[in-house]
Amino acid sequence: MSLIVQKFGGSSVADAEGIKRVAARILATKEAGNDVVAVVSAMGDTTDELLDLANQLTDAPPAREMDMLLSAGERISMALLAMSIESSGSQAVSFTGSQAGMITDAVHGKARIIDVSPHRVRQAIDRGYISIVAGFQGMSRESNNITTMGRGGSDTTAVALAAALGADSCEIYTDVDGIYTSDPRIVPAAQKIDVISSEEMLEMAANGAKILHLRCVEYARRFGVPLHVRSSFNDHEGTWVLPSPEDNIKLQEGDTMEQPIISGVAHDRSEAKITVVGVPDVPGSAAEIFGVIAGANVNIDMIVQNISKAETGKTDISFTLPSVEGTDALEALEAARATIGFEDISYNDQVGKLSLIGAGMRSNPGVSYRFFEALHQAGVNVDMISTSEIRISVVTDAELLDTAVRAVHGAFDLDGETEATVHGGTGR
Ligand code: ASP
Ligand code: MG
Repeated sequence: MSLIVQKFGGSSVADAEGIKRVAARILATKEAGNDVVAVVSAMGDTTDELLDLANQLTDAPPAREMDMLLSAGERISMALLAMSIESSGSQAVSFTGSQAGMITDAVHGKARIIDVSPHRVRQAIDRGYISIVAGFQGMSRESNNITTMGRGGSDTTAVALAAALGADSCEIYTDVDGIYTSDPRIVPAAQKIDVISSEEMLEMAANGAKILHLRCVEYARRFGVPLHVRSSFNDHEGTWVLPSPEDNIKLQEGDTMEQPIISGVAHDRSEAKITVVGVPDVPGSAAEIFGVIAGANVNIDMIVQNISKAETGKTDISFTLPSVEGTDALEALEAARATIGFEDISYNDQVGKLSLIGAGMRSNPGVSYRFFEALHQAGVNVDMISTSEIRISVVTDAELLDTAVRAVHGAFDLDGETEATVHGGTGR
């Protein structure tokens, strides 16, 4: 008997019909002889609506209360889903994150999991119950408060539970058929990927592919959990994200994992760019700047330091960060202006990031040329560049991002014959 953890996103449980469809899917999995643990997100756009509500009341909602508020979204789904399963004559029991043993640190809004002890879930499985767990939330042992794990965090809940329970696989149900070579909402010719390495998926998620939470992929890779990303609207095979090609359970005997040069083109609109102007070009300046940023708990992404002008001995340092953390970063830097000794700060949130990802890049020359030539042909100017072994990213003007993504996708022959099907959801 297999144990399968199934995670259903907000668009899959958006209304009563959706919840019934999810209940039927879980029951079918159970009837096929598996144990099932389901993890649910908040219904539809509930999380955004709760955020909007809070923002109507205050500009600075207390972080603890924000987590109390947002964690309620997932609890609504879990209880309704458990009721729906019970009404079909099977036994189900719902658990909040803390009841399911998701222990996190005390950082509200982006808590990290430090321990998973799903005793109650295990007991429920042993008694033949289907467990439904509220995603994206946990409890801090330190503060005894309810925490949430950041937007899209339910994927991570599912993988963490799968790892702690020793599940055979973790299925992530969503509103598209799997992982695409690019966002089908922007590139209609994007194609579904059948198998992708978790290494490439990490880069996709880290660079804006919203279909899987970055931390969920990291977690799955670290604990060797095979992920199957698929649609809750049909029975098609989705995309398998495999921790290592050797574990490739989807491949037939003798096959090897065929590595396409490029897996996909990801994009990200959620970042902003800060330039610290006139920084003394002496040892320690960069450390001071990023020390201040780290102290404000802000995650940075790309960093570029310009050549300093000999006359002034000063340089500019630019970096990108999530635009939601822009105010925190600016305030922290401003407070340290005198100590660091820089002249000015500029802030731009009208930027977009495009990333080309593929493990085959390592061994194929000419990828960068083809990439920059595609951007050139599309009339897109490049503002910042960063690379890893299997990725090239650029920052561009936000307005040109979609054009750039389509151009690069086409230049690497990723365009398919058929249009991708998008079933629902807002992609928010
Ligand atoms: N409901 C939360 C969000 O929308 C968590 C999740 O969906 O995974 O961010
Ligand atoms: Mg959601």
